[in-house]
Amino acid sequence: MNEHVKEANKRKIEFVIKNLEKRGMTGYYCETREAARERILSLIKEEELVSWGGSATLDELGIKEALSNVFDATKAPPETAYDERRKTLMTDVYLTSTNAITMEGELVNIDGTGNRVAAMCFGPKKVIVAAGVNKITADEAAALARIRTEACPPNCIRLGKNTPCAVTGKCADCLTPGQTICAYTVTTRFSMIPDRIHVLLINDALGF
Ligand code: SF4
Repeated sequence: MNEHVKEANKRKIEFVIKNLEKRGMTGYYCETREAARERILSLIKEEELVSWGGSATLDELGIKEALSNVFDATKAPPETAYDERRKTLMTDVYLTSTNAITMEGELVNIDGTGNRVAAMCFGPKKVIVAAGVNKITADEAAALARIRTEACPPNCIRLGKNTPCAVTGKCADCLTPGQTICAYTVTTRFSMIPDRIHVLLINDALGF
């Protein structure tokens, strides 16, 4: 990455981190993926049970392999997937990315089943959000636009969904049962519980 772009990204992340603090969330600047992995590990105690939702960012970070006390509901077969996902709400730590984060420090997410946004709102005692600098948007409207155009098409392809955005790259505001991944739109604008939501912003492009 060009050094000037890297420095501009760093300043942008530091601006977002200040705004996260105002919203009851703790932000961390991570220069590299390795620094992000180390930060995540430093936030998790050995006795804490960790779960996560599906996330290309977490896969690219390679953090799951570094953890041993885990409950992974993402590998459950379809017939037990719902019940297994419910159990993730009772774990100690939830790892996730965010579909977008605004310059003002709001986390913006669209979810199909709702388990990921549910865990971000309530349940796990600690939520660790890891996101590349590519997830930062000017505001909430830009975040939603980013999600529909940048995040949903590859996510639908990843999940094998036959949605308009997966076929053409353009959102058609679909409502097809079992196909749409846009069931719930949640903006986290404040954390009511201090020291619960920790947001790592990485000076690199990760996920989509
Ligand atoms: S509403 Fe449907 S078409 Fe639009 S982004 Fe979501 S899944 Fe894709």
